[in-house]
Amino acid sequence: MFELLKTDPRCKARLGRLTTAHGTIDTPVFMPVGTQGSVKALDPRELLEMGTQIILGNTYHLSIRPGVDIIRAAGGLHQFINWPHPILTDSGGFQVFSLAKIRKIKAHGVEFRSHLDGSLLFLGPKEAMEIQRALGSDVAMAFDDCPPHSSAPRDLRAAVERTIRWAGECRQQPRAHGQLVFGIVQGGANAALREECARAIVGMEFDGYAIGGVSVGEAEAEIFKAIELTEPFLPAQLPRYAMGLGTPAQLVELVARGVDMFDCVLPTRVARNGTAFTKRGTVSVKAGFNKEDFRPIEEGCACFACRNFTRAYLRHLLNVNEILGLRMVSVHNSHLYLKLMEDMRANLARGTFGAFRREFLANYVPSQKVLSARATVER
Ligand SMILES: [Zn+2]
Repeated sequence: MFELLKTDPRCKARLGRLTTAHGTIDTPVFMPVGTQGSVKALDPRELLEMGTQIILGNTYHLSIRPGVDIIRAAGGLHQFINWPHPILTDSGGFQVFSLAKIRKIKAHGVEFRSHLDGSLLFLGPKEAMEIQRALGSDVAMAFDDCPPHSSAPRDLRAAVERTIRWAGECRQQPRAHGQLVFGIVQGGANAALREECARAIVGMEFDGYAIGGVSVGEAEAEIFKAIELTEPFLPAQLPRYAMGLGTPAQLVELVARGVDMFDCVLPTRVARNGTAFTKRGTVSVKAGFNKEDFRPIEEGCACFACRNFTRAYLRHLLNVNEILGLRMVSVHNSHLYLKLMEDMRANLARGTFGAFRREFLANYVPSQKVLSARATVER
């Protein structure tokens, strides 16, 4: 199922290959986020053109709208959205704990009110696995308790205990044909809790492991710390997934720390505000200084937007709210993320990852605005 092809001799970066029911994925991989069954502003043809191998779908959102019965009747999520390639679905745990309005945590799940119409709903390990089975995703995630960054130690411990118990219940549920199931490790930035949770979850023998609770409003140093506290307890021969991260520079740093899989809404979210990622950091395409700039967003970028349009034109489109403007910045940003992963894989294969990492980080100027935009409820 997962082949570990190579590990960098000077850091923990890994080159691998994950085989799923709908195809093979080269890792490290970035998974564009299709919360509502669509990667915002992008169509499947564009996703494939930019090298997308797998996309993410959200159990919480899809089960509220259009509802699992409609997706089941369509023949599953792949058929419903016409994406015959790999799909990973999250379990809805993150959204229930961050989006839902009122909730009561019970032994076997969470009672909450829909963020949409306030109707009373219940989601637990059994329900989350049942929905993901109906969606037919290639990789399903265990249902976990994802506490906010500000949680008191007592609440963090309770979340870890619940996460472990619920993971055990998820493990017992039937799954779709060929579906892989990943366990999730919680524990915030607490070393003992991370170790305890990782050992318990790994003991249940999932197909892969995610590091959760790492994009919940904490500072970058704490993100890295949570990853470093968890990674040593994860089996080397199985895939590792850091949920909800991050900026391009963070992805490079997390690959160096032994993570194989990523998802993040940043490339499409900041695009809708007219912000583009480049190898040197972010740039506001909307800004006045682009008024008469007839260069592409980024020189040398091979994306459709950079091959065809200038900053001046895209700025104009964004300023007059033309859909094409935000679509093209979304194309550029998503392309940059996917190309970055491709570059990391190529450098890992050649044995030059260390030099690539140094050069990339030396050129990249992180934006505080983007770092704070990362921590947000919808993933
Ligand atoms: Zn581009």
